[in-house]
Amino acid sequence: MLQINNLYATVADKAILNGLTLGINAGEIHAIMGPNGAGKSTLAYTLGGRPGYAVTSGEVHFKTDRHAGLDPASIGTPSVAEGEWTPDQVRGDEDGWVDLLALEPHERAAAGLFLGFQYPVEIPGVSNVQFLRESLNAQRKARGEAPLSGAEFLKLARAQAAALSMDAEMLKRPVNVGFSGGEKKRNEMVQMGIIDPKLAILDETDSGLDIDALRVVGDGINRIMRKPDKAVLLITHYQRLLDYVQPDFVHVLDKGRITRTGGPELAHELEREGYREIAA
Ligand code: ADP
Ligand code: MG
Ligand code: MG
Repeated sequence: MLQINNLYATVADKAILNGLTLGINAGEIHAIMGPNGAGKSTLAYTLGGRPGYAVTSGEVHFKTDRHAGLDPASIGTPSVAEGEWTPDQVRGDEDGWVDLLALEPHERAAAGLFLGFQYPVEIPGVSNVQFLRESLNAQRKARGEAPLSGAEFLKLARAQAAALSMDAEMLKRPVNVGFSGGEKKRNEMVQMGIIDPKLAILDETDSGLDIDALRVVGDGINRIMRKPDKAVLLITHYQRLLDYVQPDFVHVLDKGRITRTGGPELAHELEREGYREIAA
């Protein structure tokens, strides 16, 4: 579903991603762990297309069934140089592969990419409901689907809030304004449930959560995203979220590249031994 090949990216002219290669199949949950400053958030922002995050070389391709309505010029078969990657890392001769880096951020979202922010943004003056309905309907429009009516949308939003044990009153409040750290993260999961993406990149969704909220959010990720046609890239600094969301693969990111890959046991090893020992 996602194929990142030898990605280099800079922020403010500083090289942060340094040859990152990662392949994610539909149905898989991948965790990325790494020390502060390793480039985890930079990876998330680069994939999301945040302005200021410049790709200097490398490729990212995304396989999606939601490409109708996107610019045809950006849809095609990935061109991957031979010999640099193992064959199972390179998948791309089926329909539906898009060159992610050629898409605008809103096109990436319409194609099914969701970004959960480490620091969710507050938007005074815009209610959660307005924001979410506009987001969902803009995506539906880009995909050639009919918009949801106000009533249809409210039903969906209330169901998602309830599933995440969020008070429906919070849907009326301005986006994240005055929300606690944990409430912001929970709100992001409500957003994810409403948007129903193909691929979710969740940047430290566990930060600021107490143990009960961690379980609710973990259950939410499993309920919304653990499906054969979806995938998750879970960025986390700590192992504890992975008790609730069992990853298929754990990767260590250090100095802008993946230095080790393993199964769930690698997360425990990292917690015990520390990143520098393991990554070396
Ligand atoms: P992580 O999420 O793994 O903690 P980040 O991706 O946030 O790491 O940051 C990686 C490196 O990029 C850090 O050294 C950080 O200081 C630097 N960096 C991130 N954003 C900027 C920016 N806007 N300007 C300059 N340096 C930045
Ligand atoms: Mg950090
Ligand atoms: Mg970060």
